[in-house]
Amino acid sequence: GADRLSDFERLQVLGHGNGGTVYKVRHRRTSTLYALKVVHSASDPPVRRQVLREIDILSRTDSPHVVRCHGVFHKHSGDNVAILMEYMDSGSLESILNASGTFSEADLRGVTRQVLQGLSYLQSQKIVHRDIKPSNLLINAKGEVKIADFGVSKVMCRSLDACNSYVGTCAYMSPERFDPDTYGGNYSGYAGDVWGLGLTLLELYMGHFPFLPQGQRPDWATLMCAICFGEPPSLPCEASEDFKGFIGCCLQKDSSQRWTVAQLLNHPFVSID
Ligand code: ATP
Ligand code: MG
Repeated sequence: GADRLSDFERLQVLGHGNGGTVYKVRHRRTSTLYALKVVHSASDPPVRRQVLREIDILSRTDSPHVVRCHGVFHKHSGDNVAILMEYMDSGSLESILNASGTFSEADLRGVTRQVLQGLSYLQSQKIVHRDIKPSNLLINAKGEVKIADFGVSKVMCRSLDACNSYVGTCAYMSPERFDPDTYGGNYSGYAGDVWGLGLTLLELYMGHFPFLPQGQRPDWATLMCAICFGEPPSLPCEASEDFKGFIGCCLQKDSSQRWTVAQLLNHPFVSID
């Protein structure tokens, strides 16, 4: 019959997120490893909305570059909801950055290709992720990179500007999310994910969040000013022209000037070996 939560043995905590904890678990009968995201207080309306949205999106996606969902458990007696996902045994790109240091340009070329393929798939399904950042990109020992964490994602219907609501991790939010009139925010919500990819690649290459000097913990206002009024961050001069050009295309402040995922897939940084 169908698996129950008790069929999985909890081995360790992989990470904590908003209102939830992700465990590494083992299916007792088959010994297969999975990641189990347990969301507490899922009866709390905002938490509930978030987890239902994540379940909805995971259950409608089927791509080698989107983390796979293998089941959902609702605990009728309590408030807990648990999402069973494929286990990504090398963790997130953030955890790799913290443990092993910065990524080389060659590493990032492969990462970029895979994230673009994932974003291209999501777009074909009309899904905007809205929280692309190092901790939400997972990797396994095969070198496969997958997009995870759809708690603030959105399935687009008719209205393109439905994406301007205030969600996601503020540091990775694109200029048009703060100021749609100046930065062409009604053009497409998908452009925000491209901005998030550009910032993520810069952070993985340089080792710190690009809008701020190393080690500085910003307040919200400083960050918003830097994103909206400052020059977009760029790569140091030693990076290749292709890589610099690619980042420049992702970090156009005006979202109507920013390259689309389809255009970026043909950029020399990822299309030439
Ligand atoms: P964050 O603010 O870091 O993004 P979050 O609220 O978004 O946290 P999750 O992204 O769901 O929470 O999970 C937290 C952490 O658990 C991730 O950053 C990652 O390190 C780990 N994790 C999540 N899913 C998996 C998985 N399928 N395989 C391996 N590790 C995972
Ligand atoms: Mg996350």
